[in-house]
Amino acid sequence: MTLITICGHHYTLSYSDQVEDMHKIGISNLRRGTIFLRRQMPTDLEHSTLLHEVIHQIVDLHSINLPNDETTIDVIALALFQFIQANPEIVSYILSARTLEALIA
Ligand SMILES: [Zn+2]
Repeated sequence: MTLITICGHHYTLSYSDQVEDMHKIGISNLRRGTIFLRRQMPTDLEHSTLLHEVIHQIVDLHSINLPNDETTIDVIALALFQFIQANPEIVSYILSARTLEALIA
């Protein structure tokens, strides 16, 4: 188990056998502050599933007027996942708090 923060709310992140029982690959719950992932998924699927659950929580936390259905959340999660994978130098730049000027110098 580890702790993550989404928009200032703290969640525990862990594997759960319960996820497998429910034939899902991830479950998140705002009130309980939990995100569970299915065990033994391919790493890429595990990461994109985590992003999927994070986006569910962002939509719920902000009551965004966005369809909070699985297809919409999947499209956003997969697009963000692919952006992160395709642009590691940009992710590093964001995490470093450097300016764009430093990146392109
Ligand atoms: Zn979902």
